[in-house]
Amino acid sequence: MCGIICYCGKRQAVPILINGLKRLEYRGYDSAGFAVVGDAEGEKGKSIVVKAKGRVSQLEKKKSGMEIGATFGIAHTRWATHGKPSEVNAHPQLDCKGKISVVHNGIIENYQELKRELEAKGHVFKSDTDTEVVVHLVEEYFQGNLENAVLRTVERLSGTFGIAVVHADIDHEIVIVKRGSPIIIGIGENEYFAASDSSALAPYTNRMIYLSDDEIAILTADDYHIKNLKNEDLVKKIEVLDDMELHVDKKGFEHYMLKEIFEQPESIQNAFRGRIIEGEGVSKLGGLEPVLDRIKKIKKLVIVSCGTSYYAGLLGRYIFEHLTQLDVEVEVASEFRYRRLKLNEEVMVLAISQSGETADTLAAIKEAKRKGALILGIVNAVGTAIAQITDAGVYNHAGPEIGVASTKIYTSQLVILTLMALFIGRYQSVSFMEGAEIIRAITRLPEQVREILDNAEQIKEIALKYAKYKNYLYIGRLFNFPTAMEGALKLKEISYVHAEGYAAGEMKHGPISLIDKNFPTVAIAPDDLTLDKMISNMMEIKARDGKILSVTNDNVRKVADVSDDMIIVPRTLPILQPILNVVPMQLFAYYIAREKGRDIDKPRNLAKSVTVE
Ligand code: GLU
Repeated sequence: MCGIICYCGKRQAVPILINGLKRLEYRGYDSAGFAVVGDAEGEKGKSIVVKAKGRVSQLEKKKSGMEIGATFGIAHTRWATHGKPSEVNAHPQLDCKGKISVVHNGIIENYQELKRELEAKGHVFKSDTDTEVVVHLVEEYFQGNLENAVLRTVERLSGTFGIAVVHADIDHEIVIVKRGSPIIIGIGENEYFAASDSSALAPYTNRMIYLSDDEIAILTADDYHIKNLKNEDLVKKIEVLDDMELHVDKKGFEHYMLKEIFEQPESIQNAFRGRIIEGEGVSKLGGLEPVLDRIKKIKKLVIVSCGTSYYAGLLGRYIFEHLTQLDVEVEVASEFRYRRLKLNEEVMVLAISQSGETADTLAAIKEAKRKGALILGIVNAVGTAIAQITDAGVYNHAGPEIGVASTKIYTSQLVILTLMALFIGRYQSVSFMEGAEIIRAITRLPEQVREILDNAEQIKEIALKYAKYKNYLYIGRLFNFPTAMEGALKLKEISYVHAEGYAAGEMKHGPISLIDKNFPTVAIAPDDLTLDKMISNMMEIKARDGKILSVTNDNVRKVADVSDDMIIVPRTLPILQPILNVVPMQLFAYYIAREKGRDIDKPRNLAKSVTVE
């Protein structure tokens, strides 16, 4: 998820590594570190490892004054997934003897069983990371040949990874392997690099090899080799990047927001990966197991959050009411503290926050904790304040979100809310059949989102047609009332035009007075039980000359009859349909903002992580 940079050549490695880490900073991270081997006097067999919590500048401070002449090494910016951000958990992780160093991006899913196995063999673990199993496995398999030890290690790993390994006794050799997390090899003049993206290497070379999954690269002082996991040599094409490609690493996207919208098939997959048991129709949430006995006694759930996370909470209410027997309330975090809610040990408060630092949400759960409620969280940034205060929780594992307007985290939150409700619901009235049906539908979501993204050009054309308006109404019912709110918020945030989200039934109680030919409506109208009522509301708008863009499923003639334009999305279960419906809304807002020339990734007046109340 975060950054790797490696150097193998004749120049001093540390300045190159530090510079590379700085160029990776934009990806978001919480700690950094490097390991280099030997020094200028040619001393062998010694690794020098420096790590720091916080910024790369902190790492620089720690190494200042140290004379490090080493000419090869590996470095990392960590975005914690397992274990909170700290110096011990920062990478590189070392083996028992301090000879082997590993940096890793991604998640080792079977780390718990591997850790138990390695501990039984006498390995001593120092960190809470999943990564540490990798270095102990390499140690276990090392018999003089690092490459072979890494090959054997990879056979044991499941999950996603980009990994780089050095051994203090092996001069000028870095072994790199990739599955799922990006790794690029940079070819210089008698020097070789590796990094998680090309922008880190821009000052040094424009000749790159993109490793594919299950490929291994060996960098040495005067050569490099690339092999597959069967140890067969591969000849890979060297790409020569132009200046543009080198310096803008948004994976070719014009904005981070667009990149993040397109990352949703993976972020949704990461939200349920390892968290479902298809054969039993249940979700498996390791983060909630420790408080399972308490959860079983809970009668009421209160969801607290802000902004987009609040809209996730609004939908969460419908999902929990649908799947569990809990009474559910949702409250914006900034209002929660003024209410006189009866909070006690039969109440569970669920905080939802991307950054894990949202001040209002933090204040709300501190208040709830004082009153004895069980506090749970859904947080993306690991180890942050909210994650620390909660009694238990589930991480998004969606990687950093850089665009201020949340996209991939919203859909990830919705998947996790569904998994949480199912987790509880299966102890209550949800049957095996219902559970299995939901799980099956969840596993199809990434593919269905991909289908919508394939249609981006058509959504763009529609957006350009609507970009001239100054006001918009978004309406939806039931599960898609929150989608209407979130759709309107996206448009407001990044294009600075007025948009209101409304429960469709409420429209005739006020907002309908605004409707005329210059005030279009976006109707989220999937083919569910509320469709006929939605159609009536849309007719009311049409009767007043309002234009209608609808988001619906295919073959719904009645929607076509009352719409000026339509965006068709694949079908899923009604409780999951909002996850698909919001994706075109994100694109619609994006393309309108782009047409208006707005600062999409950093819209005026907004901050990504709102740490003030
Ligand atoms: N899962 C690893 C950890 O938590 C690596 C995280 C990353 O990709 O930065 O340490």
